[in-house]
Amino acid sequence: MERLKVALLLKSEPGKKVLAKGWVRTKRGNKNVSFIALNDGSTINNIQIVCDASKFDEEFMKQITTGACIGVEGDLVASMGSGQAVEIQAGKIEIYGVADSTYPLQKKGHSMEFLREIAHLRPRTNTFGAVLRIRHAMAFAIHNFFNSKGFCYLHTPLITASDCEGAGEMFQVTTMDLNNIPRTEDGAIDFGSDFFGRQTSLTVSGQLEGELGATALGEIYTFGPTFRAENSNTPRHLAEFWMIEPEMAFYDIKDNMDLAEEFIKYLVNYALENCLDDITFLNNMFDNELIDRLRGVLKEDFVRLSYTEGIEILEQAKKDGVKFEFPVGWGTDLQSEHERYLVEKHFKKPVILTDYPKDIKAFYMKQNEDGKTVRAMDVLFPKIGEIIGGSQREESYEKLTQRIEELGMDTRGLWWYLDTRRWGSAPHSGFGLGFERLLMFVTGMSNIRDVIPFPRTPNNAEF
Ligand code: ATP
Ligand code: MN
Repeated sequence: MERLKVALLLKSEPGKKVLAKGWVRTKRGNKNVSFIALNDGSTINNIQIVCDASKFDEEFMKQITTGACIGVEGDLVASMGSGQAVEIQAGKIEIYGVADSTYPLQKKGHSMEFLREIAHLRPRTNTFGAVLRIRHAMAFAIHNFFNSKGFCYLHTPLITASDCEGAGEMFQVTTMDLNNIPRTEDGAIDFGSDFFGRQTSLTVSGQLEGELGATALGEIYTFGPTFRAENSNTPRHLAEFWMIEPEMAFYDIKDNMDLAEEFIKYLVNYALENCLDDITFLNNMFDNELIDRLRGVLKEDFVRLSYTEGIEILEQAKKDGVKFEFPVGWGTDLQSEHERYLVEKHFKKPVILTDYPKDIKAFYMKQNEDGKTVRAMDVLFPKIGEIIGGSQREESYEKLTQRIEELGMDTRGLWWYLDTRRWGSAPHSGFGLGFERLLMFVTGMSNIRDVIPFPRTPNNAEF
């Protein structure tokens, strides 16, 4: 008999023979009958299996405990109990794998901290099942969104020889014998003898290569893992995270903002339309404002505001007695507390902050006429702070190389990037959306470690 998934069974009409396979969430009952809640990961909901004691050996039934994996053949019937329309009247049960009392997920209500210690098992909980299904749905929706707009999915390299962005500390990639590092005559590390014949690291962003794609294919996006040796333990930073980076020829900063806003709204709407069971579960268990917050984002236009105006609001707030841990003032980078003040307290909706001081932003951003600011845009979200960072890119070869010199950057590794400005340079823009930051927003999870299956953070690379 063909196995049917629980998601499908729960939507099926009663009155047929079925086969279900999955993991036992709970078993309860009395000496006449047992009720098993079976889950196979296809939905947050379990299917109830009813086992008449007369049909099954008592010793056999004792082996079916929380965590065990079983297959059940039986009749799909209308359920007498509340909470489900159908259930399976078991005829035959096969045990694939037992789970004795040492199984760590015996009872519900484990702390998120404890579940992180058993990240190899936590996908079997309701919470992580829900989060991981939403994660999948969002990944699918991202490809859908860009594909429908004619963007090309560009695969940018994970191993790179340039830290052009200065976006963060990089992880080095080497095959050198660390116990016997080759040295040049003057005692420096001889990267020339390393695998790539030069110093290499894991990428912090696919943007620079993305720009190569955009100035050829028009509109591209990347969607892949990104690595930053962030040595700060925050609930919003991972050492390995996934980023979506669209890059578009002929888009100015306004087009870029429009795309970012449309993109996030599309994803939130997709989640509400396709993952409502899971979102409702998370709403009820963790954060009963989650659904309201998601709907709220769809309703409103995002506020668009210059950095300078943002600073004025924050300075006024300080005068009015709001306490910030970090200083506020024109020229300083905004901390998460400042971003969240603007979004949650002042405007009460998402904010796109533009035109940041050039000294706190990357070298490739398009310079404004004022000589002080660049055409950057950060999208700030409730509960998260920065969810997107982007900009219009500087397309002038002269201005770009001048900025690189000002910053004392090493241009040797950048020759290929500068060639985009040398020949057929085009106005273009792009941004990076942190996939896990998006998922924090959509799931309501408050720690980024809980929206990725196997988080990588300082001192943590188990599993
Ligand atoms: P932050 O100030 O929060 O560290 P950033 O300015 O370093 O962010 P960008 O370099 O602009 O971020 O990267 C683009 C996006 O990638 C950010 O808006 C954020 O959503 C995400 N991001 C950046 N660093 C991390 C990280 N360590 N873990 C998870 N997501 C990240
Ligand atoms: Mn950062």
